[in-house]
Amino acid sequence: METSPPAGGAANRPAAPLATPRDLPAVDRLLREPGAAALVAEHGHTLVTHEARALAEGLRERCLRGELPWADVQPQALTAALARRVGDRLAPRMRPVMNLTGTVIHTNFGRALLADSALQQVLALAGGPNNLEYDLGTGGRGDRDSLVEELLCAITGAEAATVVNNNAGAVLLTIAALAHRDPARREVIVSRGELVEIGGAFRMPDVMTCAGAAMVEVGTTNRTHPRDYADAINERTALLMKVHTSNYVVKGFAASVDEPTLAGLAHERGLPLASDLGSGALVDLAAWGLPHEPTPQEMIKAGCDVVTFSGDKLLGGPQAGLIVGTREAVACVRKYPMKRALRMGKLPLAALEATLRLYLRPERLARDLPTLRLLTRPQADIAAMAERLAPAVSAALAPRFSVKPAAMMSQIGSGALPVDRLPSAGLVIAPAGASKKGIGTAIDELARTLRGLPCPVIGRVADDAIWLDLRVLEHAEPFVAQLPLLRERAIGP
Ligand SMILES: *Cc1c(COP(=O)(O)O)cnc(C)c1O
Repeated sequence: METSPPAGGAANRPAAPLATPRDLPAVDRLLREPGAAALVAEHGHTLVTHEARALAEGLRERCLRGELPWADVQPQALTAALARRVGDRLAPRMRPVMNLTGTVIHTNFGRALLADSALQQVLALAGGPNNLEYDLGTGGRGDRDSLVEELLCAITGAEAATVVNNNAGAVLLTIAALAHRDPARREVIVSRGELVEIGGAFRMPDVMTCAGAAMVEVGTTNRTHPRDYADAINERTALLMKVHTSNYVVKGFAASVDEPTLAGLAHERGLPLASDLGSGALVDLAAWGLPHEPTPQEMIKAGCDVVTFSGDKLLGGPQAGLIVGTREAVACVRKYPMKRALRMGKLPLAALEATLRLYLRPERLARDLPTLRLLTRPQADIAAMAERLAPAVSAALAPRFSVKPAAMMSQIGSGALPVDRLPSAGLVIAPAGASKKGIGTAIDELARTLRGLPCPVIGRVADDAIWLDLRVLEHAEPFVAQLPLLRERAIGP
């Protein structure tokens, strides 16, 4: 057992080093220190006491384990440590980062960036009542989907539309609803070339199972023909399904059945055709010099009864699953009970409406929609920014690292257009004068330091260097503002 003065003893000699871990002021005493009392006044007793207890316990344990010399624990330093803990506890864990990976629509970084008008709409609606489910015309109950249905129909040419939480939900709901219209018809026919995994646990065969459908695979991995579908249709068939293979391509000896052919086949037998587009660009990206991505408009024109796609991929809006199609098919989807469990929240819905309205002015889209603006940002513009930033970044990281502006290739991301690359530019940061083994360590350390900045900077590691693609960095100031701190942490004072 320790023999030491009572814990309260420290109060009378604040400047003296502590003799033993028992000397740490008791929580009550710690809270009476002026700094701590001010924290209590600001944040209340509950949080501050909780943190004070955790702080005292942590310190005591470290002292007892011999990791922290008693002499280093100054009583007056405790309130500063307490203030830090409280501040840290209150700081949100979800925070802005700088995505300099070169992947524009990055699932890890929240996918599409919302347009100003969408942000303003969320702000305007979030804090007060709104007409989410209230019909201002009749004064009666309204339908939240109707806020965007007309817009979606106008943009895509579909007869009807509804929206859910995300596209995974849209696909699940669509299959479930269409495969439960008739208890004798549960089979959904899909090509073996389209049994995609999107990431996580979203795999087409599992989705079919979850939806209570019996998946019938036809064709082969590389080739599926119209007769494969035709031969599989029988009295148990509920639906034909087409899945856009968004994150991979089958090249070489490959064949698949296009939507017009498949729609013809389905309708001949009185069956609906559903198409999951995944990304679903609402405009033809080729008009902006980008690779073409199939649009819901094309799918509707091709005769698809239902088309599903994401709100936060190429569309450039909030997380959402959009379902457009014929009046009959959409009505069936909308009244299926699972719809209620997947409905959109009012905030994403507010953002979605504002985002969709941007599509009414296609000539302004590349200016107003951040996703399109970033995808179409000219390489020369990005390269000029890289040239401008290089000296400052170089000054911050010299002499341990060399910093050079360079051309590089961006990716669209989120599974969209997986093989296409966009010419871009940025900075290549390489350890200077390190051994082969030292290079890896230096890169890891710098990557960690970049991630540890107040606004974390995330790049890409390749060829013994960190690559910072500047395509997504539209404004340099917040990046430049962090350079002094970067220098301090990466190089030292
Ligand atoms: C991304 C994607 C999904 C899932 O969409 P979320 O909006 O992420 O839920 C489904 N199908 C395809 C083909 C996709 O690319």
